[in-house]
Amino acid sequence: VHNKLLELQGNIRVLCRVRPMLAVEKASGEGGAKEVTEYPSPEDLLVTREDKGSRNKMAFEFDRVFAPGSSQAEVFEAVAPIVTSVMDGYSACIFAYGQTGSGKTHTMEGPSEDRGVNFRALEEMFRLRQDRQADMCYTLSLSMLEVYNETIRDLLAAKGKGGGAEMAKLEVRMSDNGSYDVPGLTLVEVHSLDEVWQFMTAGKQSRAVGAHDMNEHSSRSHCIVSLRVRGENLHDKSLATVSKLHLIDLAGSERLSKTDATGDRLKEAQNINKSLSALGDVINALGSKNKAHIPYRNSKLTFLLQDSLGGNSKVLMFVNISPASYNVSETVCSLQFAGRCRAV
Ligand code: ADP
Ligand code: MG
Repeated sequence: VHNKLLELQGNIRVLCRVRPMLAVEKASGEGGAKEVTEYPSPEDLLVTREDKGSRNKMAFEFDRVFAPGSSQAEVFEAVAPIVTSVMDGYSACIFAYGQTGSGKTHTMEGPSEDRGVNFRALEEMFRLRQDRQADMCYTLSLSMLEVYNETIRDLLAAKGKGGGAEMAKLEVRMSDNGSYDVPGLTLVEVHSLDEVWQFMTAGKQSRAVGAHDMNEHSSRSHCIVSLRVRGENLHDKSLATVSKLHLIDLAGSERLSKTDATGDRLKEAQNINKSLSALGDVINALGSKNKAHIPYRNSKLTFLLQDSLGGNSKVLMFVNISPASYNVSETVCSLQFAGRCRAV
């Protein structure tokens, strides 16, 4: 039992990535946007918070801290072992958490000339599939959805079938084999990196349909790219594996300003808050000694990911933060969330 517990604790990793200061922030200069984070070691981070004239340093600990200079390749090194374990038959969730503008999409998606975790993870999956082809035959299938206001939207559905501005009311169901699926969700078999990338680009476009402002919309919804991996052992049929890899760009974690707290905005903010705290609760419960009750049902997000959170599954949480002084209170909130994910 003890070993099992240790193994499970080892299945949750929390990494912090600090984005660089942006050119506009540097230009706004002293006072406006000073850099406020320091890195005593690759696992530790110090945040300076000025409070009514006094300067407080708050220390946080992670499995790893990526300083602003870190490259997409360096970040992916921390992810690669997870991709290997997905191909070995263990499910995994990779999250990017943080306020809007902290670098979540840069980390997961990245610009086309400097791609992030999603592309690199898929590249690694296809590489491993090739590598192992003498012993294993893999079938990879892709789905892509968005959770907005606790509603699931299929991003790969053909236009007119729920892929447009109209939201299809998809629900999560547990199937006979204990796996959690969304009946009706488009699942496409993919054979190459190129092909996956085409689907993902189309999915991203479908995300923007009906949104007044793509950035605004994407910061208020969770985007989940999921790969289902079926591995057949060519020498022994009984050694088949099924696993899932979920790549999740979460909605912005920032709190609503008091002046915006009305109508649709308020409802959106409450739903985001509810799902992010439900996620924190689930991860915290998974890392604790008493795993009798894991509160998966408190949000669509955790309910949807239920079969890939817990058990032998791996969880990797990127906490993305800004280095700038004007973001410090949100930064501290994000780091506190991360602390709760790591607490045992
Ligand atoms: P989020 O998805 O959390 O809202 P973005 O990923 O869109 O944030 O990042 C906000 C801005 O910061 C973008 O202009 C992005 O290019 C830039 N940025 C974020 N992280 C990095 C990084 N590691 N290196 C360079 N630029 C970054
Ligand atoms: Mg984003």
